[in-house]
Amino acid sequence: GATIGILGGGQLGRMLAVAASRLGLKTHIFEPGANAPAGDVAHRVTTAAYDDVAALTAFGNAVDVITYEFENIPTSALDLLEKLAPIHPGRQALATSQDRLTEKTFLQDLGLQTAPFADVGNAEELDAALAAIGTPAILKTRRMGYDGKGQARIMTPEDAATALADMAGAPAILEGFVNFSHEVSVIGARGPDGSVACYDPGENVHEAGILRTTTVPAKLTPGQRTDAVLIAARILNALDYVGVMGVELFVTPQGLIVNEIAPRVHNSGHWTQNGCTICQFEQHIRAVAGWPLGDGSRHADVVMENLIGDDMDRVPELAKTDAAIHLYGKAEVKAGRKMGHVNRIVKPA
Ligand code: ATP
Ligand code: MG
Ligand code: MG
Repeated sequence: GATIGILGGGQLGRMLAVAASRLGLKTHIFEPGANAPAGDVAHRVTTAAYDDVAALTAFGNAVDVITYEFENIPTSALDLLEKLAPIHPGRQALATSQDRLTEKTFLQDLGLQTAPFADVGNAEELDAALAAIGTPAILKTRRMGYDGKGQARIMTPEDAATALADMAGAPAILEGFVNFSHEVSVIGARGPDGSVACYDPGENVHEAGILRTTTVPAKLTPGQRTDAVLIAARILNALDYVGVMGVELFVTPQGLIVNEIAPRVHNSGHWTQNGCTICQFEQHIRAVAGWPLGDGSRHADVVMENLIGDDMDRVPELAKTDAAIHLYGKAEVKAGRKMGHVNRIVKPA
């Protein structure tokens, strides 16, 4: 069978490799860090930096198609790899989502609602942005942030200097604080033929900036549920996207506001492993390998709970329950590190 190259060897890469293996496909992981969770289950692993031209070239030549579990891949690596194998999702999706400023501009140009935002490169621009947007607001690094890292809340203008110092000189974006009632996400997929399949939206609860639980069905009116899926489909089509994408939304009385998009399988889609016949990982592999998309319909109500840091101590007790346990095989437990997750079937839908 074909070999799928996966950039990034974290838990998402691991679960993609498991799904590929189940479809009779091989996977080859490229990951700079040692002890990659995906390394245990992939057919081949290259441990090398993204500026290692020889290693990247060998990887690109050894695979039939390239995908990724991590969107912050250096442009230079993509320039080299795209000459060797097709990359799905494509460059446009990566370029758009790697930078919060590009991302929000793209979303606004599509006619979608986002938080008010402004580019912030220095103290003067932050003052001007705060004058225009007001407080509370959030200053975020434009690139590389995840799990709420690289963010500083600005409750009053007096917080501006500390918040800017937190950015450590990195280009930033100021976002107006959205007064949402709750957060939901749509995991959507688009095939090479342009067909789109979205999973039912999930409701997400974050703690300390990290996803804690996802519950399906989300609290949404039928109209909001339709809107959420249409927003995801519009984004997928605009990017001529191939693969699975996560679209994070804020629910407000003024409608759904797009927070961010992730051009990959998404933590808030892990419930699909036990709530759907075709989970997000298989769906992504199907799309990038050129298979037809699978049916994304949901056969149960599910609560997904992340196991973060010391939550690992609860695994022996969880093992006595009906929860489906997914562990990532990470050697070291660290505070704030995603170690695994459990899916609980609440009742048949
Ligand atoms: P992820 O791990 O999802 O990639 P991230 O580090 O990219 O997270 P965001 O999704 O931008 O960060 O923000 C993390 C959380 O902070 C959001 O899910 C939301 O709860 C809150 N948040 C972010 N931006 C805003 C905003 N403009 N208004 C209100 N809350 C916000
Ligand atoms: Mg993010
Ligand atoms: Mg987010």
